[in-house]
Amino acid sequence: MNKQRGILAIISGFSGAGKGTLVKEIFSTYAENYSLSISATTRQPREGEVDGVQYFFMDKPVFEQKIQENQFLEYAQYVDNYYGTPKDFVFDKLDQGISVILEIEMQGALKVKEQYPETVLIFVTPPTAEELEARLRGRGTETDEVIASRLARAAEEVVYMDKYDYVVLNEDGKVAECAAKVHHIIETEKKRTMYSGQLINELTEGLARYKKGE
Ligand code: 5GP
Repeated sequence: MNKQRGILAIISGFSGAGKGTLVKEIFSTYAENYSLSISATTRQPREGEVDGVQYFFMDKPVFEQKIQENQFLEYAQYVDNYYGTPKDFVFDKLDQGISVILEIEMQGALKVKEQYPETVLIFVTPPTAEELEARLRGRGTETDEVIASRLARAAEEVVYMDKYDYVVLNEDGKVAECAAKVHHIIETEKKRTMYSGQLINELTEGLARYKKGE
């Protein structure tokens, strides 16, 4: 068993902020450090998406059954679909000392933080609203209506941005830099004394014999 419990980090950001690309970059560059939780969703797969890779795709009744069975760490409704994080996977990894990154929207992120305050919340955003719109349009996978509802959602979400622990800018063409910043944040968090209980105990024991008068 690893000495230190893994860190639970959540990456959120407006739809179109480049989270998907960022998360891919983190997992390819820092593969040995993290485990990625795969969410369940009721939305339709986009072209190229594969069940069990980007998401576990399922129908609404199946998702609702899993809610009843308390199988989600959190779940949320986002633009008419359910999205949820399978609970067992996350806790197993953290217990094994492996840090887990969740890429989830804000409602879910804040729910997890409320329950587990040690969760590290990282918000990723392009530098301007105009760039966000341009990226959403450039993706070319969504209708105008869906784009409009995602931008409207961003306008609602921005109000809660300050509830996050960190904000990281994801500038065009700088995904490797952005991934390095996120990795650095998580590495720094690991050094918090609350994760070093065992080390502190060992040092205390090891130093006991040097105490004056003993
Ligand atoms: P998309 O449909 O673009 O893949 O995802 C839409 C939103 O759902 C994104 O903001 C994404 O971060 C969020 N999301 C993905 N998985 C989960 C999850 O398990 N729980 C929550 N709360 N949000 C999720």
